Amino acid sequence: MEALLEEHEKLVKKGNLSKSVEDVQKTIDLLVQARESIAANPHSAPVTLAKLQTPVKASFETVNSDLKEVYKGLGNYSKALDKKFKDKPLPTTDHDPLANHPVLMNRAVAMHLLREGQFSVASTFLIDASKQPRSESGTPNARQTEDDAATASLRSENLRRQFAEMYHILHALKNERNLLPAIAWAKKNGELLETRGSNLEFELGKLQFVWLFTGGPNPGGPRALSQQQALRYARQELAHFQRRYLKEITQLSGAMAFCPNLAQSPYRRIFHNEDAWEDLANSFTREFCSLLGLSADSPLYIAATAGAIALPTLLKLQTIMKEKRTEWTTQHELPVETPLPPAYHFHSIFVCPVSKEQTTDDNPPMMMPCGHVVAEESLRRLAKGSRFKCPYCPNESRQEDAKRLFM
Ligand SMILES: [Zn+2]
Repeated sequence: MEALLEEHEKLVKKGNLSKSVEDVQKTIDLLVQARESIAANPHSAPVTLAKLQTPVKASFETVNSDLKEVYKGLGNYSKALDKKFKDKPLPTTDHDPLANHPVLMNRAVAMHLLREGQFSVASTFLIDASKQPRSESGTPNARQTEDDAATASLRSENLRRQFAEMYHILHALKNERNLLPAIAWAKKNGELLETRGSNLEFELGKLQFVWLFTGGPNPGGPRALSQQQALRYARQELAHFQRRYLKEITQLSGAMAFCPNLAQSPYRRIFHNEDAWEDLANSFTREFCSLLGLSADSPLYIAATAGAIALPTLLKLQTIMKEKRTEWTTQHELPVETPLPPAYHFHSIFVCPVSKEQTTDDNPPMMMPCGHVVAEESLRRLAKGSRFKCPYCPNESRQEDAKRLFM
């Protein structure tokens, strides 16, 4: 990976087009100058043009040699890419469950583009997708009608507008450190957010207070003035949060006592938290999407990332299967486990691999010392009161050694 990063850095430094652009501009300047002098004095045309020949030719040569560097950089980079990511065929099965659902796939792609704020790309994509061939009979069947309805909802102006609003608010928050659009949105949707148990509105107000307190738009300005502004803001906007967030509000007011020396005070984390803006931007995105009935991250992004994580394991599996001449026989299930990061665990249900039943509070999942998990009933049946071998590995354990897992 390091060789790749090195080549990438070289490419950014040397392989960029800025020098070529500069030199092309010089040529254009030469030509414009000549045109102006000919326009001013038409009789000078032959002389001016003759004088132009050598410098223009030279400038073309310069541009060409500028580009050589770019081509070289690109060549080296793609060589490094090829070396790192060898061309391996992707694992395949005869049955591709997604092949029959082009509309669902298109919908996922379009939705991802919308969520990324790529509105014009999304609309071009949707137009192209709608031109794809349909069923042979020509009359749409029930599923197609349903699919059409699904994509039509994506074409709707409403969804586009809502994501545009989200990007506008996020831009102000992240790039301009302006919380007001987000605060206005949270106020407008206060009731819905409240029902969800969200504390976004308060967190926004709190950060606005901290921002004002530490100088707001004028960080180097007189301290007394910024504190007054913050206090006024707190009285106007934070007072009605007192019942629910008394502790946090008390902390904010308590911090005033440490004012000249907040950085060394117990309140340092509230007033000097570099991550606060990024965290708030994330929770804003999460709340905004949830009010639209969507998850915070694009499902396509999550699926593609999970797939990329799983790929090396699947490739290895395919090689082993080929060597041993075995087949992948389990349906709707991968024959190997794919470890994913905790953020990618969505449905905390556990199905006992022995009894194939979903665990419940009465029959909870139990982890044996080797780390394998089965349902309590299966554990009891396996153990029968004595030492037993784990069904998944050679380790032995006793029923008493297993620990209950909470999900
Ligand atoms: Zn085990």
